[in-house]
Amino acid sequence: MNYKQALKHPIFKIISQSAEALQLESYVIGGFVRDYLLERGNAKDIDIVAVGNGIDLANKVAENLPTQPKVQVFKTYGTAMLRFDDIEIEFVGARKESYNEDSRNPVVENGTLEDDQNRRDFTINALALSLNEANYGELLDPFNGIEDLDKGIIRTPLNPDITYSDDPLRMMRAIRFATQLNFKIEDNSLKSISKNKDRIKIITKERIVVELNKILESDKPSIGFKLLENTRLLDYILPELTALKGIDEIEGQRHKDNFYHTLEVVDNIAKTTDNLWLRWAALLHDIGKAPTKKFHKKIGWTFHAHEFVGSKMVYKLFKRLKMPLNDKMKFVQKMVLMSSRPIVLATEVTDSAVRRLVFDAGEYVDDLMTLCEADITTKNPKKFEKYHNNFKRVRDKIIEVEERDRVRDFQPPVSGEEIMKAFNLRPSREIGIIKEAIKEAILEGEIPNEHDAAFQLMLEKGKSLGLKAVEV
Ligand code: ATP
Repeated sequence: MNYKQALKHPIFKIISQSAEALQLESYVIGGFVRDYLLERGNAKDIDIVAVGNGIDLANKVAENLPTQPKVQVFKTYGTAMLRFDDIEIEFVGARKESYNEDSRNPVVENGTLEDDQNRRDFTINALALSLNEANYGELLDPFNGIEDLDKGIIRTPLNPDITYSDDPLRMMRAIRFATQLNFKIEDNSLKSISKNKDRIKIITKERIVVELNKILESDKPSIGFKLLENTRLLDYILPELTALKGIDEIEGQRHKDNFYHTLEVVDNIAKTTDNLWLRWAALLHDIGKAPTKKFHKKIGWTFHAHEFVGSKMVYKLFKRLKMPLNDKMKFVQKMVLMSSRPIVLATEVTDSAVRRLVFDAGEYVDDLMTLCEADITTKNPKKFEKYHNNFKRVRDKIIEVEERDRVRDFQPPVSGEEIMKAFNLRPSREIGIIKEAIKEAILEGEIPNEHDAAFQLMLEKGKSLGLKAVEV
């Protein structure tokens, strides 16, 4: 088959001519070809294989481009990269690989296109298009990857046991592609992943997280998490989640399976937000339920303070996975900590409770509502509608209260300095007490969020603390 039409971008002709000038064969391979055939939109990455020196080809291409881009060379990998027209183009010499037990980094020697296709992870990633004049645009597909693309199958070109054991990152990649493309992992592959699951230990946490993020960013992340669970990779990666699995029954009382519930929540939220960190929050919102689970004779199952415990676990989990311990982590913690707050409100929406919610959630109050809405997984259509309507009322009330009281980015209407001046005070405990009293009165709706009312309250509170106001 010929796919010249895939190679319309002017870069391909330039690569082709540059390779001819160096008397090299060159091919486009991997993700670009796969995504073209799947009609997944324009690629931002192009991988080029040269039968010969990839770095030389990259330099030649850069010379021939009108923009003369800089070539970034990665000597240890024998690869080079340049940017053109917002596209990253990576060049590599065709290679043959062999692996050692304890490393995912292979011993490399020069090889043919076929050798290079053999080292690719999946048949759908080994597809290559020729850039050589003689057969420009011809598809080279030694493993019938095109059929796997058509049927939606993830399959390794060679023996899957060897492929996954050689580079265990491929187990994560298989599951990630299955999730992104909604493909099935071929049975032997799936068995090999289960068999080789312990090899994942040689992969750095950072690489694992890259794949986890891609799974979470997919349309239906549960596909990936179910595969991670079935193959038991999840035990190693996120044991906090596997701990949520199962339903206990005591004296006829059961609780829901919080693992599968969590996956439903993640799929729900994937329909309403692309915010990766909000998706993480959905994934982790119930992790505190495993360590807090208790059975009480009278009231049945409880998960007391699971939100608080869960938010503490978020820190440990991020740290273990070498994820950023920055504002993103704090955001996830906050969402987990507050994840039940709007639920309590939904039955009785008072102004003061809504003000407190907005005050505590601050700029993230919308995200919190999105999380709570995704948390509705009841299969009873009447309840489903009722719960959504309840949250709709909370959302309306948030808008109403916020328009009036502006507590989202709460700034005290009377500053500490003003308090010090009013009572001729040095920095002291009393200032904190007065500020807290003003904030409380605003949140409770006892005074409006305005300077004059707050100033009046300050005078009263100061008096009750035995302070004397300065005469003006
Ligand atoms: P995406 O851009 O969605 O991640 P991609 O297939 O382009 O998809 P890359 O990680 O950029 O993914 O890899 C480019 C190509 O390199 C792949 O298509 C595959 O042929 C090959 N490849 C990448 N990682 C591996 C690996 N661990 N083992 C074998 N081949 C790999």
